[in-house]
Amino acid sequence: MKNYNIITLPGDGIGPEITTSAVEVLKEVSRHSELEFTIIEKEIGGKSIDLYDTPLTNDTLEACLSSDSVFLGAVGGPKWDNVEHDKKPEQALLKLRKSLSLFSNLRPANIFKALVHSSSLKPNIIEGTNIMIVRELTGGIYFGSPRGLEADRGWNTLEYTKKEVERIAHVSFKLAQSRSKNLVSVHKSNVLESSQFWQNIIHDVHKNYPDVMLSDMYVDNAAMQIIHNPKQFDVIVTQNLFGDILSDISAMITGSLGMLPSASIGDNFSMYEPVHGSAPDLAGKNIANPIASILSIAMMMGISFNEKTIESNLHQAVSDSLDAGYGTPDIVNDKNKNLSTVEFTELVIENYRKLLTNKD
Ligand code: NAD
Repeated sequence: MKNYNIITLPGDGIGPEITTSAVEVLKEVSRHSELEFTIIEKEIGGKSIDLYDTPLTNDTLEACLSSDSVFLGAVGGPKWDNVEHDKKPEQALLKLRKSLSLFSNLRPANIFKALVHSSSLKPNIIEGTNIMIVRELTGGIYFGSPRGLEADRGWNTLEYTKKEVERIAHVSFKLAQSRSKNLVSVHKSNVLESSQFWQNIIHDVHKNYPDVMLSDMYVDNAAMQIIHNPKQFDVIVTQNLFGDILSDISAMITGSLGMLPSASIGDNFSMYEPVHGSAPDLAGKNIANPIASILSIAMMMGISFNEKTIESNLHQAVSDSLDAGYGTPDIVNDKNKNLSTVEFTELVIENYRKLLTNKD
């Protein structure tokens, strides 16, 4: 038996409901494998403010620092809109990412066959899309100094060090190796020295991964190409600001915000979370889409625990559930196929079980 210590941070709004789905899936995975999960729940965000007057306590941070992986639900909501800036629920996320040094943010955008018609793009453009965007998460213009704001000017600094680019490059090449071996490095090297530097380092690191095809693309062209022909991409690696924008563009091709998982990875720690927020409009109603959470757990299995078969079976179980026409209200209108968060989670778990039985 392999034992992994997982911290769950349900947070606010729909966070607790979709975290329950994630935990149920973890328990099911454990029932059918040699994996044992010790799951410990801690507070974060608005809930933590209410209890301890801070969005992230040392107790929660320490627990994450001694974990094998972290699952985060969502933080924030109107109740905490007026608290002072440093105490806002979202500050907990930034502090956590920085403290765990989660420098690479992985956001897959792929289309489930059953949902091809939910996208704002034409089915023939998006069918078969499977992109992984790797966004550098702890450097670049978001963190560079000097920075400042005065009455007649505002400024930021875009800087990358060799170490920062090298480590994200290695993550991206390794990911590409495990997929279709195609990496596109997105930057703006025709205008920015920091991008020229980025390009040089990425090409240096490429020498270690000769089996991966590397190409360069300017960020303005990449934004257009993701919409024009998303199927051309396998893995995209890019800087913090460009990744923020491109991952939202690619998210739009998948249909619903409730579908998108993410992973934030560092050298020693990892955190998995749905891309969506706390959806206060849905909280407590048992109608939130749990797919982003379930797929975040699938990513945890594949990336942090190297359990690729479990990862692909969970993905398949979600796909089978959608193929049968079922879904939460954000993706399915048919009253007879419209399921609650709990019911859809149970259906995915049932399909996961079926997959394993059929393979025996
Ligand atoms: P949101 O993602 O919470 O909601 C946007 C829209 O998507 C809403 O209509 C919501 O109902 C829908 N939606 C979101 N998740 C869904 C799901 N699982 N199933 C079905 N529909 C879903 O974004 P927002 O409304 O801009 O923000 C609400 C709060 O969440 C804010 O306080 C914001 O700061 C916070 N937030 C937190 C995170 C995070 O914790 N990582 C990320 C984004 C926003």
